[in-house]
Amino acid sequence: MSGVRLPFHPRLAEHALVRRHVIDGEEHVVLHDTRTGDLVRMGTREWAQLAAADGTRDLAGLTLAAAKSGALRRASELVVILERLQTMGLLADGIDRADAAPTPSDRPLFALPDFSLTCDASGACCGVYGSILFTRHEAARARVALPLVRDGGDHEERVFTPEQGTDASGSLAVALVDNCCAYLGGDGRCGIHAAAGEAAKPAACRIYPATFVDDGETIRVSLGVECACALDSVGVAGGAPLVADTARTGADLPAGARVIALPALLEIAASVTAPRAAYVAWSRLLAAQPSPADPVAALWSLAAAVDASGLDEAATLAALASPVLPDVNAVLPWIRALSERADSRVASASTWRSARDRSLTASREIAAAAASLRDPVALATAIATASPDPAGEAFYLRAVIHGHQLVGRLPLATALRDRAVRLLVARAMGALAPALRRPLTVLEAMLRGHGIEVYAREVRS
Ligand code: SF4
Repeated sequence: MSGVRLPFHPRLAEHALVRRHVIDGEEHVVLHDTRTGDLVRMGTREWAQLAAADGTRDLAGLTLAAAKSGALRRASELVVILERLQTMGLLADGIDRADAAPTPSDRPLFALPDFSLTCDASGACCGVYGSILFTRHEAARARVALPLVRDGGDHEERVFTPEQGTDASGSLAVALVDNCCAYLGGDGRCGIHAAAGEAAKPAACRIYPATFVDDGETIRVSLGVECACALDSVGVAGGAPLVADTARTGADLPAGARVIALPALLEIAASVTAPRAAYVAWSRLLAAQPSPADPVAALWSLAAAVDASGLDEAATLAALASPVLPDVNAVLPWIRALSERADSRVASASTWRSARDRSLTASREIAAAAASLRDPVALATAIATASPDPAGEAFYLRAVIHGHQLVGRLPLATALRDRAVRLLVARAMGALAPALRRPLTVLEAMLRGHGIEVYAREVRS
């Protein structure tokens, strides 16, 4: 007996994401811990044993289910798998009773003004993320349109795993081939689009990169600045709007749009909260101001103002009127934390990801840029150097503020400093690799899509 106490009805916890990867032609199942960025690799047979652990079966029932699927060799093997996951904090007990936040239907939409997206249809976005989600209907449609992809026509489990844990009733994550969606064609085009038309693609792909946040007054429609096309579209008319021009309320959003509701109280600094309405007013105030000449100085000064005076209007305007560049010693711990997180990501990904995997290359680019800024002299120079892309950075700030992307995961003051650090690292990425297209978007996609953003919780002064 190992002494590890297993849940009575084991299931994977919500933060344990299972993804099926094909790496250099070989199939693997990878379990990602979204809290820590750690991962567990397992064989497809191990996963087949675990897949029945949905919180409804005790160990005996789980053993029978695994035996029925043909995946079980010895009951002790299943126990070892469960104990390992339990030790890592990746199991929960019983069924998940979490209620989904209600999506308001009559809430007015408030779309980011003066922006439309011109997509280059290169398929670059289909090879960056760790999760690409399909509804069950969309997955079925894709399997019918392209049944030979991973033999998914006959075997759903070869192309899809549950979005979260082992919950077979929710959305599905598609298998990734060298981190590209299994349905991405060799020509860089979406295979589903080519075979069955654009409407057959998953809603998440058709809606990307739009974001929807309900702030109690409106649904803010913005975008994640995570694809080069987003920045290439700035100031260019004639692209696709983030939502249809005729859309007015939540009811008009496309099917499959995920609306995130801001909580009634938001953390704005360590142990300080503010009502959601006060934060919305603060964001409106910010959006009404001209773009700052130096976004890094503006973000750092705003963070100091939030720490000192909360969401006070006069303090906010004063910070924007006289932004101060951050001190090197204040930024250094942030750079170190990001550098360590990126290094760890590279070390872990290098052991199993293909050399063709774009996310591995991007991790290395981020790690190299952060490492280059660990030298205080280099960091001081970077802080004092003007942005190489003022229009792009100004748009980034506009999209982040309009989309309420500064709140929810981190206290607002921390999030403001995090964004300043991102700008510095993205500039360094561009300096180290001048051919890299829109480094800020590469950084943004990797931070969110691969969990590197947890670095901001690991900053030690
Ligand atoms: S379904 Fe099509 S558009 Fe969506 S990620 Fe896959 S290849 Fe790209």
